[in-house]
Amino acid sequence: MFPFAQSTSSTYPVLSVYLNKGPALGAQLTDVLKPIKELEFDRAQEMSLRADIEKISNLRLEREIAPAIGIFSCEGEGWFHVERLHRSVPDFATTGHRPYLRPVRTLPRNTRTKVAVVESRSAALWLMEAGRIEKIDDIVVDETVKKNYGGWQGYAERKAQSRSDELMHRHYRDTAEELFTLHQRQPFDYIIVGGHRTDTHEFVESLHPYLRSHVAGEFVIDPHTMTGTAVLEKASTLEAAAERDRRIALVGSIMDASGSTGKAALGISDLVDATNLKAVQNLLVVTDSPRVPGAICDECTWISLTGGECQGCGAEMRSVCDVVDEVIEAVIRDRGTVEGIGADTPLDAHGVGGLLRFALS
Ligand SMILES: [Zn+2]
Repeated sequence: MFPFAQSTSSTYPVLSVYLNKGPALGAQLTDVLKPIKELEFDRAQEMSLRADIEKISNLRLEREIAPAIGIFSCEGEGWFHVERLHRSVPDFATTGHRPYLRPVRTLPRNTRTKVAVVESRSAALWLMEAGRIEKIDDIVVDETVKKNYGGWQGYAERKAQSRSDELMHRHYRDTAEELFTLHQRQPFDYIIVGGHRTDTHEFVESLHPYLRSHVAGEFVIDPHTMTGTAVLEKASTLEAAAERDRRIALVGSIMDASGSTGKAALGISDLVDATNLKAVQNLLVVTDSPRVPGAICDECTWISLTGGECQGCGAEMRSVCDVVDEVIEAVIRDRGTVEGIGADTPLDAHGVGGLLRFALS
C-alpha cells in the first residue's frame, strides 16, 4: 500500500509531516516544523534534516486539492514522497528511523457502493465512491407484451399479467446478474436499492443470498425525476449507517471476546504485550486517540511503554513519540489487519483494541 513504509534509516532522521488543506498552509507548515527545528542532531543528520525542510517548504502546497497530505523525506537516504489523503488528519510533524504512518494507516476506509434504482422494466446502476456518484449503466427491458385481448377477457388479462410478471422477474434476474459480474470485476462493499417501495422490495427479494447479504438498505425515489445529487444524498445516508453498524459490530466482537474467550486485548498496554507475542489478528485504532510515547528495540523489534533495557534482548531501546504507530506496523508485518475507527463506540475508553490469535493468559 505504501511503497516507502519499509524505508528505514539508522543514520539520518526521517521527517514525516501531515498537513490539512487550509487557507494558510504556509503558516501551518511553519507551526508544525517549529519543534522539529529545535531538535539536536549531529552535523550530517542536521544537514539532511535541513534539506528535507527546504524541499517541503518549496512545495507548491496551495495547489493541492486533496483534503490532507503526508510528506515523508530523508535527504540523507535520498527519499522524498508525498501521499495525498482522502480525509483530513491533524497537522503533525515528527522525526524517527522510519516514516510515521499512523495517520494514513487509520484513515476511515474508502467504501465502494453500487446503487441500483429499479423499476419493473428498467434499472439505473450507479457507483458511489469517495463522496461522488456516477451512473454506470441504464438497463431497459425490451417490452414485447402483446395486448391481444381477443377471446375471453378475464383469461387474456390473467395471461397478460403473468407474462408481465415473468418479464419483471427476468429483468430483476438480469439486473442482479449484471451486479454480480460488476462485483467479480471490482468488488464493492454495499448494494443500496432505490425506487418505488414495492419495486425495491421485489428486487431485493429476487437477489441471490450472497448479493442480498451486501444490501445496506432501500430508499424511495421516483426513477423518472431523480437526479444524481438526490441519489447520492439518500444512498450515502444509508451507507454511513451501514458503516456505523459494521464498526459497532467489530468493536462488539472485541468486547465479547475480551469477556469470554480472552482472545482480545483492550488498551495500549495489553496491545503492546499482545504485539510483542505476535498475537494480534485484527487491530482497531480510535483515529483521534492520543499518541502514547514509548520505546522500541532496533535489534529485536520489542515494543515498550517505558524504554530502558530491552526485555527481549537486553539492548538499549530507542524512544518513539507514539507506540501506537509501532504496534500498527508490527501487526501489519505479522500479517494482521489494521483499521481506524471513529469516536462513537465503546472503544473510545481504550483507544485501541484487538482480536487475538490466542489468549494471553
Ligand atoms: Zn531487543
